[in-house]
Amino acid sequence: MLKPQFDREQKIVGTFHTHPYKEGWLGITFSGEDFASAINTQENVSVVHGGNRIAALVRNEKSSKLVDGYDIIDLADALLRRYYSKKLIPFEEAALQMNINLWTIHELAFYVGAPDGQLTLRYKP
Ligand SMILES: [Zn+2]
Repeated sequence: MLKPQFDREQKIVGTFHTHPYKEGWLGITFSGEDFASAINTQENVSVVHGGNRIAALVRNEKSSKLVDGYDIIDLADALLRRYYSKKLIPFEEAALQMNINLWTIHELAFYVGAPDGQLTLRYKP
């Protein structure tokens, strides 16, 4: 889980982090922990690089300002289990489907693309 640390007088604009190729998975977008951290630290931009995919969450005036971290992590896990349970789609696509649910619920704009290309707006509240 990301735990950005900054002083009170500093203004955090956003974060960038990577997802290692755990178990060979490429293209893993935001985790439930990432959503909780991005929302609760009120990042304006949160970027994740997961090998062959880059994704960005962008806050706006409609976005959630505070969430229960455990609730969003539980919801993310439940959604992942639902989308991946029958293994009809690759894990990274199940993770993306979970992200679609969470960015919609929390009104975060979402961009996705490849590291060597442009990011495409996928959702704008
Ligand atoms: Zn992450």
